[in-house]
Amino acid sequence: MSSNIINNYNRILGKINNSSVLLLPVSKFKPSSDILVLYNTGVKQFGENYVQELIQKQAELPKDIKWFFIGQLQSNKCKDLAYLSNLNTIESINSLKQLKKIEQHRSDYYAANAALFGNSTSNAIINIKIQINTSQEAQKGGLSSFEDIIPLLDFLTKEAKFLKFDGLMTIGSFTNSTNDDEINQDFEVLGQYKKKVNQEYNIPLEEIKLSMGMSHDFEKAIKQGSNEIRIGTDIFGSR
Ligand SMILES: *Cc1c(COP(=O)(O)O)cnc(C)c1O
Repeated sequence: MSSNIINNYNRILGKINNSSVLLLPVSKFKPSSDILVLYNTGVKQFGENYVQELIQKQAELPKDIKWFFIGQLQSNKCKDLAYLSNLNTIESINSLKQLKKIEQHRSDYYAANAALFGNSTSNAIINIKIQINTSQEAQKGGLSSFEDIIPLLDFLTKEAKFLKFDGLMTIGSFTNSTNDDEINQDFEVLGQYKKKVNQEYNIPLEEIKLSMGMSHDFEKAIKQGSNEIRIGTDIFGSR
């Protein structure tokens, strides 16, 4: 069982074959013991979808894990998330309101726990990816026009002290990820957003990371410029 997880992880690493692409294991609904199997081989970054589940796992697992939150974020959970010392990244941001809440709560948390961060605000910074609804599906999270992300980019680049713009994330439609086309239209759209952020904000391309690609579509995502693939099923098995 545990060797399966390691073999799966290594098999996907072998397919990536590109050091600028992070393989992020997504461990939602899977026990902490499954995470430990990979952790013990040196993997330190994991993605979770639910704040409550993340809090529980964060409490029972080693504190040098870097957690990535990739799920839909409700306003009333922003504080709980901001109070996780080893939260590295939030990828599913889709409003200025969320950003302001997280910034305020992280600032409060730092003020009361500076020693946890070696008295350096830079150690408390949370990386932020803005989620883009590239497929414009009504039920999906994320913003769906460049105009909509401008206030968030302005806040991140001009005001936030505890949040740092790190890139863009998309899930993409099931149809686009399962058809035979050479190119996934959603990944293409995310690439266009990246170019526009680069042009309008003068942020170097290598500082605008694209999180795209899951178990069934990561190979196309890598070909289309992904910097991070989020893999659950193909590593930990079906949920
Ligand atoms: C669950 C989930 C994943 C992993 O999906 P798999 O198809 O199991 O690899 C990736 N990204 C997000 C946002 C998810 O919710």
